[in-house]
Amino acid sequence: SWGSFVDKNVYDWSSEEEETDGRARPVQVLVVKDDHTFELDEAALSKILLAEEVRDREVVAISVAGAFRKGKSFLMDFMLRYMYSQASDKWLGDPDEPLTGFSWRGGSERETTGIQIWSEVFLVDKPDGSKVAVLLMDTQGTFDSQSTLRDSATVFALSTMISSMQVYNISQNVQEDDLQHLQLFTEYGRLAMEETFLKPFQSMIFLVRDWSFPYEFPYGQEGGIKFLEKRLKISENQHEELQNVRKHIHSCFTNISCFLMPHPGLKVATNPHFDGRLREIDQDFINNLQVLVPWLLLPKNLDVKEINASKITCRGLLEYFKAYIKIYQG
Ligand code: GDP
Ligand code: MG
Repeated sequence: SWGSFVDKNVYDWSSEEEETDGRARPVQVLVVKDDHTFELDEAALSKILLAEEVRDREVVAISVAGAFRKGKSFLMDFMLRYMYSQASDKWLGDPDEPLTGFSWRGGSERETTGIQIWSEVFLVDKPDGSKVAVLLMDTQGTFDSQSTLRDSATVFALSTMISSMQVYNISQNVQEDDLQHLQLFTEYGRLAMEETFLKPFQSMIFLVRDWSFPYEFPYGQEGGIKFLEKRLKISENQHEELQNVRKHIHSCFTNISCFLMPHPGLKVATNPHFDGRLREIDQDFINNLQVLVPWLLLPKNLDVKEINASKITCRGLLEYFKAYIKIYQG
């Protein structure tokens, strides 16, 4: 039942830095330090990816990436609920259950540019009979100054290189600078990888939060695709720079998609005491969450990570992670 899931897996906010008693939690595996150097916590990453049950399984690596304070962790906690409930209909849980997992509340939280991964890798049976390992990653940074721009682009490049699905979490709309940032970090990524005739990355999903024009493009995936088609359209009377950004994005990903999410309501956005319970979230948001999360995580939709057309295991992913970081460490 839901209750027992929570007992077993609840993540205690206060103990992020402490050695926890075996409970699953977010682990910071990559940090960008103040002097702009990158630090990979190889021991922590190895512990997760080389766990006996998962190390030789093919891996599905899902990253949610974007700027701070845009609701990434909040969303990822729902993704965790889905993973822990093994896709049961009741995965959303009890209306009064506080939300736990990746810490998402409070303005005092340190904002660390880097990558966190969930310490528990999930084993999922796909309809074709295969069993895959699912890794959840939270990639965050800022793009507000020259130095943070470079650091963040590198971190985003890394997470794009090692994920099979990159969810680009953006607020309100897809602005031209969101596209430019995407171009920058995919370019960083592509440069670091072996040259191949294949598209270097797998799936890119633009997740637009607080979408407020549902009468133009409805919430969800279909509205998202139509909206994105319009946003990414290349036309001759466009400035060359705008055309190039668009061509570049198309050339990098095998799948590009978009989902438009409604605003979750004022309690979520502004009440400092809000603890994530469903009862206080706008119904429109919940309805769309019920579409979005299974769309991302339904066993049949989980794509194994591929590099140069070979499927990668958790063990292999660790090696790539280490190799890629070396390139950026120069
Ligand atoms: P993160 O830094 O991107 O991981 O953002 P958090 O998940 O920590 O959320 C930051 C704040 O935004 C919290 O106060 C959340 O309650 C709130 N929040 C979460 N989802 C949304 C959303 O879709 N829209 C808005 N406006 N606020 C949200
Ligand atoms: Mg967060």
